[in-house]
Amino acid sequence: MFKSINELVKEAHSNAVAKGWWEEDRSFGELIALMHSELSEALEDYRDGKPIDRNWYEKNGVRDNIQHASDWKPCGVPSELADVLIRVFDACGRHGIDLEAAITEKMAFNATRPQRHGGKVI
Ligand SMILES: [Mg+2]
Repeated sequence: MFKSINELVKEAHSNAVAKGWWEEDRSFGELIALMHSELSEALEDYRDGKPIDRNWYEKNGVRDNIQHASDWKPCGVPSELADVLIRVFDACGRHGIDLEAAITEKMAFNATRPQRHGGKVI
């Protein structure tokens, strides 16, 4: 059941290709903008007072806290954060980025950084 990050990259990109999202190539700037849009959707759900840790589900204008079947669309902050990663995975799949290696490398580097490196407030 567990999938590696690079398996998720491959699956997300394959699904996007199968659904026609790559019939025309997309610029890297467009891919980044789409990642941003998913974060903005998460922010809007938060601003609307939606719970951070729970999805709700929609189908044909009906909303419920239970996903009655897999064709009920997940909505909410967790779902939008998942969309961010799905967009990242798709972009990495398109450009052959080894995201698993990049994450491992960056986390190892971050572990070497001093307390609150850079001295910024947030
Ligand atoms: Mg979304």
